[in-house]
Amino acid sequence: PTMAHSKALLVLENFIGGKFVPCSSYIDSYNPSTGDVYCRVPDSGREEVEAAVKAAKDAFPIWSSKSPLERSQILNKLADLIEHDLEAFAQAESKDQGKTITFARTVDIPRAVHNFRFFASSILHHVTECTEMPAMGCVHYTSRAPVGVAGLISPWNLPLYLLTWKIAPAIACGNTVVAKPSEMTSVTAWMMCKLLEKAGVPPGVVNVVFGTGAKAGEALVCHPDVPLISFTGSTLTAQRITEKSAPHCKRLSLELGGKNPAIIFDDADLSQCIPTTVRSSFANQGEICLCTSRIFVQRGIYSEFLKRFVEEAKKWKTGNPSDPTINVGALISKEHLEKVRNYVKKAQAEGARVLCGEGVDLLALPPGNQKGYFMLPTVIAEVKDESCCMQEEIFGPVTCVVAFDTEEEVIKRANGVKYGLAATVWSSNVGRVHRVAHKLQSGLVWTNCWLVRDLNLPFGGMKASGIGREGAKDSYEFFTEVKTITIKH
Ligand code: NAD
Repeated sequence: PTMAHSKALLVLENFIGGKFVPCSSYIDSYNPSTGDVYCRVPDSGREEVEAAVKAAKDAFPIWSSKSPLERSQILNKLADLIEHDLEAFAQAESKDQGKTITFARTVDIPRAVHNFRFFASSILHHVTECTEMPAMGCVHYTSRAPVGVAGLISPWNLPLYLLTWKIAPAIACGNTVVAKPSEMTSVTAWMMCKLLEKAGVPPGVVNVVFGTGAKAGEALVCHPDVPLISFTGSTLTAQRITEKSAPHCKRLSLELGGKNPAIIFDDADLSQCIPTTVRSSFANQGEICLCTSRIFVQRGIYSEFLKRFVEEAKKWKTGNPSDPTINVGALISKEHLEKVRNYVKKAQAEGARVLCGEGVDLLALPPGNQKGYFMLPTVIAEVKDESCCMQEEIFGPVTCVVAFDTEEEVIKRANGVKYGLAATVWSSNVGRVHRVAHKLQSGLVWTNCWLVRDLNLPFGGMKASGIGREGAKDSYEFFTEVKTITIKH
């Protein structure tokens, strides 16, 4: 599995039982910034998943009986190895996904490293519960054990970041895993597999099967020997996974889409709020589940906000992702770019105003990127709350700005979508910030900031944004089975 010479395609192989295994058929993978096919990804199906689950089952007894400290040391070693190759991982992630090299260097790969370090540490600090019943002569205590083979399915927007956010807690707890990254962004997962042996991860503990959701993903979801599935992706796919896993009563963790509001009151510090909200709207081309896509601004500051917000958005440079001065890279695929553009067209057809970006400003690209999937950061105003641009997840560099009058009104409107993942609230009034945060139907509320994360605390969404939470305690509980034991003297 190597890149023979620069023109040759990169060919990935599945990683099963500690070995790279070729597949009988492959899927083309595109470089989103050039539109060229540059990589071939195994098109795995039931057979490959079967082999991976078997390897994971075989590895389970030994891995699950290791002490948390032994597993912790291995996770730390893996973190060190990824960090050692950080630049190569960042380059690969940027090329595969279209994201800027700066984002991959400062967010994706450092976070993948941190995911392993974080769970290597947190696994050492869990305590179980104990209660006494002296009159009965009993003590009760709980004990937690790994569940078995975990199926991990991840999306294309933050490839290694989100995959390791699942692999790290799963194996730290003593499970073995079969992971299936997105067929559109498989390269960094494959690169990580090359480091597992050196880190001391025994064969079969981490298996990676590449391929599509419909074939490889469903085979994993339907496999009777995979009792838990951790999935991050779209709400539609989660519904399918829920249906398919129901006959087996599987344990599911579902991290899904968002339609995240920013609520900006007239006493907000706009010098902080505007650059942060531009970032929360357009970071990673708007392809983060936590990105802001509905901005509610209190009427008194609406005009000023809009003017300054558009000025700031226009400073974001779109172009070749490998140029470190670029802020917006390429979208994941041609189809996705079309989908995002169509939302802007629909908004225009409904009478909304596009203030900058798509269809308004000229997108100038370097010669090598003319066929890439690029789009300018786009700001839309005067959109109705019931419009599809205000209701559906667009997952691109598009954000809508609307005015509101009262606190009560904005809470109702912010909650008026099917999703409930993340929200931001901007105000210098502490009382108001608390009140609004409590009333928002949202798994995460950031006040006067965005994307500041402490991995100890629960992450996840309400309503159609998901089921379950991930975090130090939450992931531990998901990836272990609890038992209550009673001892009578
Ligand atoms: P997607 O649902 O299309 O795919 C996600 C993964 O599921 C991929 O690996 C895909 O191959 C697989 N898959 C697809 N169909 C499947 C099936 N029938 N059975 C099993 N697996 C299947 O999502 P995407 O387009 O890759 O990612 C974007 C979505 O992910 C957005 O909705 C975004 O909001 C969401 N997301 C959520 C979070 C979060 O933490 N809440 C984080 C990132 C992305």
